[in-house]
Amino acid sequence: MGARGPEIRSTAAMRATMAAYFEEIRRAAEEGVGKVAWCTSVGPAELLYALGFRVYFPENHGAMLGASRMSSELIPVASAAGYSPDICSYLTSDIGGYLKGETPLKKAYGFKSVPRPDVLVYNTNQCRDVHDWFSFYQREFNAPLVGVSTPHPVPELEDVHVKAVEAQLEALIEPLERVAGSRLDMPELKRVVALSRECSDLWGKVLGTGANVPSPLSFFDGCIHMGPAVVLRGRPEAVEYYRLLLAEMEERVRDGVAAVEGERVRLYWEGMPVWGRLRDLSELCSRLRACFVVSTYCNSWIFDVLVLSRPLHSMARAYTKLFINRTERIKETYIRELVKKFGVQGVVFHDSKTCPNNANSRYGMPRRLEESGVPTLTFNGDLCDLRLYSDVQVRTSIEAFVEQLTGG
Ligand code: SF4
Repeated sequence: MGARGPEIRSTAAMRATMAAYFEEIRRAAEEGVGKVAWCTSVGPAELLYALGFRVYFPENHGAMLGASRMSSELIPVASAAGYSPDICSYLTSDIGGYLKGETPLKKAYGFKSVPRPDVLVYNTNQCRDVHDWFSFYQREFNAPLVGVSTPHPVPELEDVHVKAVEAQLEALIEPLERVAGSRLDMPELKRVVALSRECSDLWGKVLGTGANVPSPLSFFDGCIHMGPAVVLRGRPEAVEYYRLLLAEMEERVRDGVAAVEGERVRLYWEGMPVWGRLRDLSELCSRLRACFVVSTYCNSWIFDVLVLSRPLHSMARAYTKLFINRTERIKETYIRELVKKFGVQGVVFHDSKTCPNNANSRYGMPRRLEESGVPTLTFNGDLCDLRLYSDVQVRTSIEAFVEQLTGG
């Protein structure tokens, strides 16, 4: 029987970094110290930071609602307001929480409520739901809604795609300047893009340590530690944090410290996390001595084409090139490369009911991988709505899959 490896020491610094981030937003919303922009998780955060906004990410809030297991009670509130329980459960948890006046931000960071937006900024590179989600708050707060409609799904990334997005990013500048009350300073945007790239590279290196045997971190650790890469990319705090985390992961590699003691099976997590079950699944895998060493999800915040010399152009490339926005063939190639690079023995697909956009088992991918000798398992569940998730079924499926991979 295996066990979880030691706690990651940097976790305390990560919590402090996130607390300082939320305190800035709270002060902006509740004390008028700065303006608040709401942004989708792969929206143009660099542009917003360069204009001096405090940037709040409702998807991060959705993940908090899922992790704190508040979603199942809040989703019906959104459903009563006309939002189907079949659409994104980040959206329905978040809107349900807003309508009910509940948010984990109160207890965790002393907020009175979710921060009022001065502007809402979206990018549909991941799905249409984000636009509908932000449109609700546009009506609710009477705040301006601006954004980018990205071509989807993109096969090979071509100039035509990038130019279409770059033009939309340029068109955001003027309305955002109006809300910010200041002009965009190009050297500042370049500085922010350079920081975002540095954060991205460090985060990529942290995740890359998972290629070592044993892996010093698991997918579940990645879900906890990805916060700054999502919400603070473009800010020096994120760079500082990932330097610390990378040093710790490299030390673990040198000392042979494993995320899962006695690691004997290396797995790939494909799809959304099950936020309310991170700990349970992590403990199950530790018992089985199986480690999820790589995931598409955590890798989604590696933007390796950002360059400070062409900030808007490279943002357009980075945010259009995204895995979730690509065709099945590109996705399959990407997964196969990671399977090889990380020495993965099996791929586990989470078919999340309310996020078909990031459930990649629905168009024959598991079958195609199987046919070329990569074992797969698909389980049904959801990112936030635990009514769609069966503890017993998932546990039994993962146990049987690991048994199959280890030959008993
Ligand atoms: S990608 Fe999925 S989880 Fe994310 S906002 Fe869209 S539907 Fe929701």
